[in-house]
Amino acid sequence: MADTIFGKIIAGQIPARKVWDDEQCIAIRDINPQAPTHVLVIPRQPIESTNDITPAQKELIGHLTWVAARIAEQEGIAADGYRLVWNCGKDGGQTVDHIHLHVLGGRPMAWPPG
Ligand code: 5GP
Repeated sequence: MADTIFGKIIAGQIPARKVWDDEQCIAIRDINPQAPTHVLVIPRQPIESTNDITPAQKELIGHLTWVAARIAEQEGIAADGYRLVWNCGKDGGQTVDHIHLHVLGGRPMAWPPG
């Protein structure tokens, strides 16, 4: 559980600015925000990457998306829109090997992404 920075945050060993907490996940403000709202929705289960999601975890992944939408409401960005991002692996820009859903908003997002 505690072998990544997010495992340590979930275990309470490292502080974070939590905006959601339930039995399946937490959501925290990103330490290096890339938009006025930048929140990470993190499952308590330490899944290494989206490549590793099992059929039994499909409901959990849906829950994380539902929580992301609740965060957008809480943050007041739901009406204008926002971006949800799963980075996977080297080319996807993943830096923490414990899956997390980025919720980005509060400004228009560019496309294509960098
Ligand atoms: P990734 O690049 O893996 O998709 O996203 C990892 C994210 O975690 C980055 O946006 C990075 O700023 C954030 N992050 C890394 N370490 C910490 C930390 O200790 N606390 C918080 N709140 N965010 C972190």
